Amino acid sequence: MLPQLFTPNLGRLIGAGLLACSLVTLSACSRNEDAANSESTADIPQSATEYTPENLEKDTPLADSAEPESGVDYHSFANTNDYRVKHLDLDLTADFDNKVLKGEAILDIKRQTAKNPPLILDTRELDVTAVRAGIGDSLQPVKFSMGKKDPHLGTPLKIQLPKGANRVAIQYQTSPGASGVQWLEPQQTAGKKHPFLFTQAQAIHARSFIPLQDSPQVRMTYEATIRTPQELRAVMSANNDPEAELDGVFEFEMSQAIPSYLIAIGIGNLDFKAMGERTGVYAEPELLEASAKEFEDTESMLEVTEENFGPYRWDRYDLLILPPSFPNGAMENPRLSFITPTVIAGDKSLVALIAHELAHSWSGNLITNASWRDLWLNEGFTTYLTNRIMQFVYGDKRYQMEMALGYDDLKADLDDHEDKDEIMAIDLRGRDPDEVFSYIPYEKGSLFLYELEQNVGRENFDKFLMEYFNHFAFQSITTEDFVKYLDETLLKQYPDQLDRARIQEWIFEPGIPEGAPHPQSDAFTKLDPVREQWLNGEIKAGDIDTKDWTFHQWKYFLDGIPEKLSEDQLQELDETFDLTQSKSNEIAFSWLMIAVRKDYEPANARLEDFLVSIGRNKFLRPLYRNMMENGKTDEAKRIFEKAKPGYHPLTVKVNSKIIYGD
Ligand SMILES: [Zn+2]
Repeated sequence: MLPQLFTPNLGRLIGAGLLACSLVTLSACSRNEDAANSESTADIPQSATEYTPENLEKDTPLADSAEPESGVDYHSFANTNDYRVKHLDLDLTADFDNKVLKGEAILDIKRQTAKNPPLILDTRELDVTAVRAGIGDSLQPVKFSMGKKDPHLGTPLKIQLPKGANRVAIQYQTSPGASGVQWLEPQQTAGKKHPFLFTQAQAIHARSFIPLQDSPQVRMTYEATIRTPQELRAVMSANNDPEAELDGVFEFEMSQAIPSYLIAIGIGNLDFKAMGERTGVYAEPELLEASAKEFEDTESMLEVTEENFGPYRWDRYDLLILPPSFPNGAMENPRLSFITPTVIAGDKSLVALIAHELAHSWSGNLITNASWRDLWLNEGFTTYLTNRIMQFVYGDKRYQMEMALGYDDLKADLDDHEDKDEIMAIDLRGRDPDEVFSYIPYEKGSLFLYELEQNVGRENFDKFLMEYFNHFAFQSITTEDFVKYLDETLLKQYPDQLDRARIQEWIFEPGIPEGAPHPQSDAFTKLDPVREQWLNGEIKAGDIDTKDWTFHQWKYFLDGIPEKLSEDQLQELDETFDLTQSKSNEIAFSWLMIAVRKDYEPANARLEDFLVSIGRNKFLRPLYRNMMENGKTDEAKRIFEKAKPGYHPLTVKVNSKIIYGD
C-alpha cells in the first residue's frame, strides 16, 4: 500500500508432521504443497480428536519467545498447519441503512493433518449465525464457538468439522463499525447524492468482513456475488466488467490465488473510463475526467514495468478513485488499485503513487510477504520499483527527486523510532501492525536494493529481479527465503561485489549501514543556499524564483526550514506564496507542519479544514502528533472529535492513540 499506514501481521505454519516442514522452511513447504496435498483425505485416519474447548485454546499465537520465528504469523489465529483455505465463495448484501454486509462465505479447505482438529478462522466483530460443513455440496449444520477476543487480533471462530470435511459455509453479518469497511454518507462523496462503501483489508482487517484464514501466507482464489442498491455499481479486486448492468447484483471471479488482505470491495455511483488497452479508471462521475487525465500515463507505466521486470500477470490494471476519507494513499488490490483523490493534483506531480500501486503487481501481489514481519519484501521492493518506473516514464530529474525525498523520509523516520523498529525484519508480536507503520520498510528496503544495484550494476540487477519475480510468482515468502535466494544467485555470481555480513546488517540491524548510498538531487541541493540566504535576510521571499518548482521542490524547501524561523519570516513566506491556501495537499501539509510548530494563527482555519476534510493518515498522523507536542492538545481533541464521524475506522484508531494515548 502506499505510505501511510500500512503494515502488518502474521500466520501460522503449514506443515507439521504431514509435510515435514520446519518453521524456517515455510515457503519451501508452500511450494511443495500441491504435491503433498494431492493425497486424498480418504487416506487420513478417521479417529480424530474430540472437540473440547481445552484443545482449542492452546492454538493461539506464541508471542513470548525471544525472537519471532520466521514464517510464523503472529497476527492470525488460523491453524494453517492443519487446514488451508484454497477458495472462497462469497455472497454478500450491502445494507446501507444498517451499515452491515450480510450473507455467506463458503470456504474450500485442504486438510494438512491426519487428525480432525477444529478449524480455526479469524474474525473481528462478526455476528456468525450458522455454520455448515461437509464434503462437496453435502453440508450439514455443525457446532461452532467464538473464542476469546484479542484487542489486536479479533476473535477466533472455532468450527468442529465432520471427518473428511473439505468445505465450510458460514452465515454472518459484519458490525457497523467493522475495522475494514467504511460506509460513507452521500455528503462524504464527490457527488453528494449516493452513499459509498469501500473495504481496506491490509493488514488484518479482511477478518472484519469475511471469516477466513486472515494471513498473507494463505493464498486463495475467490468468486463473489455482491448485492447492492439498484443505482450503485460494485467493483472488486477481480474481473470487473465496466459494462455490467446496474441491476443490484454483481458477479466476480478472481482466478488467481491471492492472500486475504488483497480481497477488496467498492460500491458507489461509479462510472468507468478507459485510459489504455489494459488500463482504466472507475470513479464517481464528478471525478472521472480529472482522474483519467491525471493518471493517463498508467498504460505507459505498465508497459515499461513489463519490459524491464517481466510480464504483468493480472490481465487488466484499473484504478478505483475513492472519496477523500480513504485512510491510505492507495491500496494495491489486484487488478483494481484503490486510490485517494488527494493525489489528483492537476499536474501529475503525485503519480508516483500510481507507479507504486502498479509495482505491487510484481512485489506484494505476485510475491507476498509471508507474515507482516516480512513487509519490507512487499514495500521495499515496491518502493525501489516505483523509483525506476518514474525514471522510465518521467526521466532522470524526477527519479532523483523521488529518491532524495524518499531518503529524507527515511532519515526522519529513523530519528523518530526506537532501534527495534528500525529493523527491516521487524518484530510485531503483540502489536497491531497498523500502529507500528513507518516508512522504514519502504525506504530502507528500497535503499538496500539500490545499494545492491549499485554494487552489481543495473543491468545485472534487473536480470536478477526479473528472475526473482518469476521464481517466486504466486508464493508467499519470508525474509529468510529471500536471503537464501540471494545466497544462491547474486552472492554466488558477484562474490567480489557483495558482502554477506553487510546484507545481514541491512536486514537485521537498526539504522542504515555506514557508507550506504545517499541519493541526492541537483534540483534540491541548489535550493539549500537559496533557503539559507532568505533565512539570513540576504534576499526577500519574492526574490526566490519558484515559477518552475514542482511540489517536490516546495516540499524540500519547506521541510528544510529550521525551528528558528521568526514570526515575520513566516508571514512573509505566506504572503508571498499564499501557502496557507495552497491547492496542493502536499505543499499545504508541509506548510501546516511549520505553522503548527510556530503557532502561526492565520493558518488555523486551514489546518482545521484540512484535518476534517482529508482522511489520509500520511497527513493526519504527523499533524496531530505535532499539535500534541506543541501544546495544542485541546485544539487537537476538538478537531479530532469534529472530524471523527467522517474518518475511516483505521484513521480513528491510529489517531486516537496519538491524541488520547491508549
Ligand atoms: Zn505499498
